[in-house]
Amino acid sequence: MYARVKAKFLMRGNVPDYQLTTPASLADALTILANEPGVWKPFAGGTDLMVVLESGNLRHHNYLNIWPLNELRQIEITDSYLTLGALTTYTDVQSNSVLRSEFPMLCQAAGETGGLAIQNRGTLGGNIINASPAADSPPALLAYEAEIELTSTSGARWTAYYGFHTGYKQLQMRADELLTKIRLPRSQTNRFHYYRKVGTRKAQAISKVCLAATGVIKDQRIDDVRIAFGSVAPIVIRCVKTEAALKNQLLGNDTTKLARESLRNEIKPIDDIRSTASYRLQVATNLLADFLEKLQSHQN
Ligand SMILES: Cc1cc2nc3c(=O)[nH]c(=O)nc-3n(C[C@H](O)[C@H](O)[C@H](O)COP(=O)(O)OP(=O)(O)OC[C@H]3O[C@@H](n4cnc5c(N)ncnc54)[C@H](O)[C@@H]3O)c2cc1C
Repeated sequence: MYARVKAKFLMRGNVPDYQLTTPASLADALTILANEPGVWKPFAGGTDLMVVLESGNLRHHNYLNIWPLNELRQIEITDSYLTLGALTTYTDVQSNSVLRSEFPMLCQAAGETGGLAIQNRGTLGGNIINASPAADSPPALLAYEAEIELTSTSGARWTAYYGFHTGYKQLQMRADELLTKIRLPRSQTNRFHYYRKVGTRKAQAISKVCLAATGVIKDQRIDDVRIAFGSVAPIVIRCVKTEAALKNQLLGNDTTKLARESLRNEIKPIDDIRSTASYRLQVATNLLADFLEKLQSHQN
């Protein structure tokens, strides 16, 4: 009887059941992945993986400890791009002055992710690959038209981050690949940037809805707008239909109404333990209206 009760309430995974190996270099890590594709899974900051371990649901047993790989920790700045290693933490993001001035939505997302311990350990690469629809940095990465580098022993390939998530936890990535870099095009001048995370608390709360939006106005009209939401669909989404509907529109009440209608048809929020579909829909359309209002005052 005691054994049955104990088994029912035993939460934590049994640590000796798991293997963690530390490759000597990025090349070594890629060779291990290539030799046994699907056997080894990367372990970066571990902030998502350890939660699954604690709940006793960590099914995969072999991990590759990529945390010490300095090759994945660099931030490079050229005239065209700001490139972040996949192991860039939320603390690293907030400390970088170019990111703060040119990509403020990413810095704000980093500052509103978890608490300080999570910000010191959680990585952008882990956030992308964990593929939660409620993740906070991906909306900013989508709105900044980020590109990601996937590397295997066959070489590295760059791909747009938009389109990388094809369905709930579905990624366009092979088992022998690592996410190695994330790059942001540096053409954000004169843009208005708007990031809002709505959760139960100011810190340590998973988003109910999150919006990253950026826009440029020319001659009173919307010249370019990018809108990306978290927690309103099975993946973090860029609302390309609403963006197209807003192109060349004059800012004002009619345009806000059009935006709300278009967004209602484009997102598919659900009921879950954190919120309801109807609340999410209402908040998402309110955030978009707030963005457009602030975009209008930004031009004046
Ligand atoms: C208390 C707490 C609060 C949190 N709050 C937030 C929050 O507010 N917002 C939010 O978005 N997230 C939050 N998280 C989730 C988590 O911290 C982030 O998703 C974090 O960025 C994950 O990064 P990591 O390096 O720890 O990933 P890990 O746990 O190491 O890995 C996550 C997944 O990504 C894979 N992976 C990691 N790096 C790579 C790579 N380079 N290439 C290929 N695969 C890779 C791993 O195999 C694993 O499947 C929170 C977590 C906790 C525990």
